Amino acid sequence: MTQKLYENNSHIRDFCATVISCSESEAGYHIILDKTAFFPEGGGQASDKGTIGEAQITDVQTVEGEIIHFSDKPLVEGEEYECHIDWNRRFRYMQNHSGEHIICGLINKYFGFDNVGFHLGEDEVTMDINGILNREQLRMIENLANEAVYKNAKFSVLYPTAQELPDMEYRSKLDITEDVRIVTVEGYDACACCAPHVDSAGEIGIIKILDFFRMRDGIRIYIKCGFDALEDYEGRYMSTKLIADLLSAKQYEVSDAVEKLIGSIAEQKHINSELKKRLIEAKISVFGTKEEKTAVFEEGLDVKELQLYADGLYKLCGGIRGVFSKMADTNYNFAICGDATQLDKFFAEFKTKLNVRGGGRNGMVQGSVQNKREEISGVFL
Ligand SMILES: [Zn+2]
Repeated sequence: MTQKLYENNSHIRDFCATVISCSESEAGYHIILDKTAFFPEGGGQASDKGTIGEAQITDVQTVEGEIIHFSDKPLVEGEEYECHIDWNRRFRYMQNHSGEHIICGLINKYFGFDNVGFHLGEDEVTMDINGILNREQLRMIENLANEAVYKNAKFSVLYPTAQELPDMEYRSKLDITEDVRIVTVEGYDACACCAPHVDSAGEIGIIKILDFFRMRDGIRIYIKCGFDALEDYEGRYMSTKLIADLLSAKQYEVSDAVEKLIGSIAEQKHINSELKKRLIEAKISVFGTKEEKTAVFEEGLDVKELQLYADGLYKLCGGIRGVFSKMADTNYNFAICGDATQLDKFFAEFKTKLNVRGGGRNGMVQGSVQNKREEISGVFL
């Protein structure tokens, strides 16, 4: 059985180990070592990555009790290799996982709720709590969690005996009594957990609760800790700064500025549509024709405006009156008005001659047509 170096020393990033077995698999090679500091995926935390000799380790899984390193190259059985953990990845996981323990310990202490789900992946850290908390309560938990960081609360790992275990208070109580690994954060938490953690809370850095939403009878919380939180802050800062500069607003007032902007866009839209309405009315008032059927071509009219225009022309001159708004060279939106019976007949012909989608009733049809302007005009001759 592989010795798990990460269980008692979470800070080993380089080590030497002997290959016990190497077998070919569908997607590379399965390596078993005599000892390893690679943490296999487990307890919600994704696996470590790194190298064994020249081989890239892309995944580590526990399969039937054995720790399998997924490798891109074969390694020689019985040979000793230098191994390196992708420390940047691992340390970020440790920061987030340790931060999660502090938050869950505090939620349990202050509100009595349990952590019933945890996911620590490359892009997201989530935890599920079996009770409802609001933003204000989570702010309090976040403050207390960061206080634990400033106090540099100590992390330690205990393996209580079967006799000691029943009397111990810890989260994620297990049915088993053997080899139970308890991770404690002095003054904050004790929890059964198999993953590597920081030695003291100062290593975590900032603990930030980002968001949360209701899930069944509880909530899912999104957090970022340490370097991930710093990177997230930088991304949000630059984005806010850009918006603030564009709006000539102070960064803390961007939401007010955006609200104002949205209001003024809505106002402009209203003015714009009033102007277009008047323009359509003006165009209708000077319209004159002896033709029984006409097609007018415009740009930038929406369905309502097309209907208003076509209806106005029909009321003024009778006949069949179509108005088309260009969307692309062979794509027009349209409305056509006319006497109901005549229009039905015309529209049936219109549809057989052109590539039309749409319909209507009571003397008005609308839709879109995928043809050239000359082809459309041809049907109105
Ligand atoms: Zn844990």
